[in-house]
Amino acid sequence: MRCNRHQAAFVLSLLLGLAACGRVSTEQSVSDQPAHHVDGGFRNTSADFQRPSSLTRWRFMARRLWASYTSPRAFEAPRVANDGKALQAGLINPSITWVGHATLLVQMNGVNALTDPQWSERASPVSWGGPRRLSAPGLAFEDLPPIHVVIISHDHYDHLDLTTVKRLADTHNPLFLVPLGMKAWFAKNGMNHVEELDWWQEREYRGVKFVCLPAQHFSQRTLWDGNERLWASWAMLSLERRLYFSGDTGYFDGFKEIGRKLGPFDLAAVAIGAYVPPEIMKSVHTTPEEAVQTSIDLNARILLGIHWGTFDLAEEPLEEPPGRMLAEVRRRGIDRDQAWIFNIGETRKW
Ligand code: ZN
Ligand code: ZN
Repeated sequence: MRCNRHQAAFVLSLLLGLAACGRVSTEQSVSDQPAHHVDGGFRNTSADFQRPSSLTRWRFMARRLWASYTSPRAFEAPRVANDGKALQAGLINPSITWVGHATLLVQMNGVNALTDPQWSERASPVSWGGPRRLSAPGLAFEDLPPIHVVIISHDHYDHLDLTTVKRLADTHNPLFLVPLGMKAWFAKNGMNHVEELDWWQEREYRGVKFVCLPAQHFSQRTLWDGNERLWASWAMLSLERRLYFSGDTGYFDGFKEIGRKLGPFDLAAVAIGAYVPPEIMKSVHTTPEEAVQTSIDLNARILLGIHWGTFDLAEEPLEEPPGRMLAEVRRRGIDRDQAWIFNIGETRKW
């Protein structure tokens, strides 16, 4: 559907508002609380963390909006057919499937878990505007095996999609594990099988330990809720396998600490897309090269590049992230078998 002028104006004001209000009003830390807790929300704690100025964000959002209406980009990421039958039968153990963007289906220890599930046409608060899906999900929603646990990294629309999580709650009734501050959002939307965790807190589910971990990012769904809900990365740990999921994060010193405390990991799924322009993205999204460094910091055997090729969120060429990741892997003399780029819908044993 083509937007009318009012709708376009609404989106423009929303995006400009988001650009301008990307933080809580005060960043006073709260006594007796961890350093990332502030009055009314949360913050990043790396000394070198910097958010761009409101003007820089304003300009970026206006440019994105203009480009999305005047010259929308098309891109079909390579894909393979996946009817979900082998996954439903539990034939691949443990398995990991890239549905697209940051959505992974992970099977380990008999537990089926989804990360940041997104099956919608758009990553947006409205159905008629905002970043449109470029490639269909690699696994039809109906073909999912029973989902036991869903982990959410943060509240941005490309990671927390209301339609998808409602549908999951209705059809699979999974346990949603979410960062602090997000449980109320789920409750408001009628979903109560939800537990919220702070960084470094963990929840065991049938022999798999889910650990909520630091990330360097931010949160926001409306004009008024900047950084009110925590953002996180996650680990899934069993006796057999150890997986790390980055969500969205800039490159920061927290990866080394996570690697020290929880490594080695068998597999690290790290975001490699949405890094241009750097003045906007550098502090909150890893580049493909930084994703490689991240997997080294985490002490991960395999790096899987995610968060690319599915939604048009930034200004790099849509096909660029995998090539840059693999070039960096070559340059650093890392075994090619340890660097995974999936086709959409692809499943691998890990
Ligand atoms: Zn985000
Ligand atoms: Zn994202």
